[in-house]
Order: sequence, then structure tokens, then C-alpha cells
Amino acid sequence: MLSFKLSPEQESLRSLAREFVRREIKPVAALYDRTGEVPWPVFKKAYETGLMNMQVPEEFGGGGQGVLNGCLVAEELAAGCAGISASVVLNDLACTPIVLGGTAEQKERWLKSVCGDMSFVAFCVTEPGAGSDVAALSTTARREGDHYVLNGGKQFITNASIADYFVVFASTDKQKSYRGISAFVLERNTSGLSVGKKEDKMGQRASDTASVSLDNVRVTADCRLGGEGDGFRLIMRTFDKSRPGVAAAAVGLARAAMEYALEYARTREQFGVPIIQHQAISFLLADMQKDIDAARLLTWRAAWLTDTGERNSGEAAMAKAFAADVAMRVTTDAVQIFGGYGYSREYPVEKLMRDAKILQIYEGTAQIQRLLIAKTFYG
Ligand SMILES: Cc1cc2nc3c(=O)[nH]c(=O)nc-3n(C[C@H](O)[C@H](O)[C@H](O)COP(=O)(O)OP(=O)(O)OC[C@H]3O[C@@H](n4cnc5c(N)ncnc54)[C@H](O)[C@@H]3O)c2cc1C
Repeated sequence: MLSFKLSPEQESLRSLAREFVRREIKPVAALYDRTGEVPWPVFKKAYETGLMNMQVPEEFGGGGQGVLNGCLVAEELAAGCAGISASVVLNDLACTPIVLGGTAEQKERWLKSVCGDMSFVAFCVTEPGAGSDVAALSTTARREGDHYVLNGGKQFITNASIADYFVVFASTDKQKSYRGISAFVLERNTSGLSVGKKEDKMGQRASDTASVSLDNVRVTADCRLGGEGDGFRLIMRTFDKSRPGVAAAAVGLARAAMEYALEYARTREQFGVPIIQHQAISFLLADMQKDIDAARLLTWRAAWLTDTGERNSGEAAMAKAFAADVAMRVTTDAVQIFGGYGYSREYPVEKLMRDAKILQIYEGTAQIQRLLIAKTFYG
């Protein structure tokens, strides 16, 4: 049977997140956007409220929730501030390779620690020379007896400045291209690991982004997740689980922009009537309503598929690509509805437009999602 109705538990999870946003995020979203500082008090409260590490299994201290429930929370958090939401939600993304590829002992060792005392984890794939083309990564992990020695550099890593753990993807065999990529978990204080300067970004400024350097980082072989060469598959399986969450964040961000635009259109008068009575404006709002709804439905389906154990790569790519485009279009139109005031930092919608842009870039650009969709559905 097909149902679009949330269960009472899902409704209360969504209400919990919505109330958290009203109390803890909305009042400070503009402040952290302006300063670019790490919103530690908000993170601490999100952790205490159970809104962090939601998808880590309960036995390791996480919330034990599925991807769909994670999406319900991501939509709410991003409606409050997409930057704060990104840092909170990406902790789940960074834990996913450990959940999917870790041994019982590795999960016990890292996930329990992450969930036990609000630690951040960084997911390190992108490099200066390898963005969309993940298989081209040049960071190496050379086997030396019972150890690996890692060398290279990672770029644009979310939460890098504040992370205690780094899930790093490196090549253990360059000849094998993507089949030679392996995954490692590194602890922050490991000698040779250093974090670069924080990026000064256009949007999502409350979310930390920085580079990571690996200079002869020596770790024991039990820091490797899965077998040698399992890394690329782990990255792709992680994206299948995390892309619905990015799509949900796009839905939340777009919804916030639509709500501001609707309220403004009802009160702002030009030519003697509220501007919502000009059909050109009401049609912009109607398009927002329809596109946000469509994006949410694609998102829920992609999440539901992976929760039921089915492949969702194509559906997750469609949800992520569509929702990110919707967020960009809706926020741009919200600025349009606000007219000149929309362009001013005194009004909330310009932040939403800046925050939306990165949704079309990270976790696979708009173009890469389309490549994936074509590959999945047309071979
Ligand atoms: C704020 C922020 C946070 C991030 N967080 C993380 C993180 O936590 N971990 C992580 O590993 N990475 C992270 N990233 C990196 C992000 O995933 C990459 O920026 C993204 O994958 C694109 O890579 P690139 O920037 O090198 O662009 P490129 O790959 O160089 O792409 C440039 C342009 O070319 C297009 N393009 C490339 N190849 C093709 C193709 N085959 N066909 C058509 N068009 C193509 C792209 O779509 C894009 O428009 C983050 C980035 C930012 C800005």
C-alpha cells in the first residue's frame, strides 16, 4: 500500500526539530552567517536534543533512525539555517562509511566515541585536483608492514577545523584507478595531519569548511575500513544514503524562502493592492509551492528506497539534482518578490539565496547528478 501519511512517531520527530529550530536556530542564524563563527552552543543543544548522529545505530550511541526520518529533520533544520544544518547533518554522512564498512570492533571504537561526547567527523574525498572525478584522487596510502603511510591533501572538507576524526579516501594502488581507492579513519592528533585555513564562503557560513594536509601520516592497518580497494564503493554507497538528506535540506531552505515571500507579498502594497494580487507574483508563489512539493516527494521516495534495502542511486541523484535546482530558483524568486529589499542584508532572503548555491555543487554537482541519472536509467 502506498501512503504519504507520516506515522505519529515521525510527526513528533518533525515537531521536535521544528521547535528546536524556532527556539535555537532562527534567533541566531543571521548572526552566525555574519560572523562565520562555529555555532558551538547550537551544536551542543542539537546533540543534547538527539538531533545529531541520528542515523548511527543505537547500539553505538546514535539515534538508530532511517534515512527518511533523517530527511524529516534535515528539512526542518535547513529551514532554520542551511549552514548550521549542514554541519549537523554531515556528521551522519561522515559516520556512514564506518557504519557501512567498519568491523564490529571499529564501530565500537569510533562510533561510540563520536556519539558519546559530541565529536565531529570529517568526510575527506575532494582534493585540489580531484573534485567531480573522484577516481583521479592523488592522496596515497603506502603499506609498510602493519602500517600505512598517507600523503596528500584534501580540499573543501566540511567540519575539518572542528573534527576529531577524519574518514580519508586514498589510493593504495594507483594502477587500479577507482578500484585502488581505500578508506581510513584518522584521529585528529595523528602526527602529520594538519588542517588549513577556514574557507571564507559565499553562503552556509555557519558551516566550517577547510583543507586537510597529510604529510607522512603513519597509522596502523586496523585504521582501514573494509578491504584494500573498497573505498570507491563506500563513497558511492555513502552518497546513496546522504543525497536524500541534501535534497531534504534543499526542500527546507526553499520552504523558508517561500514562507518569507508569501508573507511579504500579502503585506507589501503597490498600485493600491497587496502585490500577491498581481498575477505575476502569485504565479511565482504557485510555482514555488508546486516545485517544493515535487522535490519533497522525490526526496522521500529516494530515502524510502534505501530504508527498504533497495538500490536508490538514480532516484537519490534525481532528488538531489531537482531539489537543489528548486532551492536555487525559489530563493532567487523570493529575492525578486522582495524587490530592492530582497537585496538588502536587513531582510532574510538574500542569505537563503547565497546558502542555496552550494546545494548544486557539493555531494556531486548538478552536472554529475545528471550523468548519474543518465547512467542509471539509460545505461
Ligand atoms: C562548502 C563546501 C563543502 C564541501 N564539503 C565537502 C566534504 O565534506 N567532503 C568532500 O570530500 N568534499 C566536499 N566539498 C567538495 C565538493 O564536493 C566539490 O566541490 C564538488 O564535488 C565539485 O568538485 P570541484 O569543486 O573540484 O569542481 P570540478 O569537479 O572541477 O567541476 C567544475 C565544473 O565542471 C563540471 N564538470 C566536471 N566534470 C564534468 C563532467 N564529466 N561533465 C559535465 N560537467 C562536469 C562540474 O559540474 C562543475 O560545474 C565541499 C565543497 C564546498 C564548496
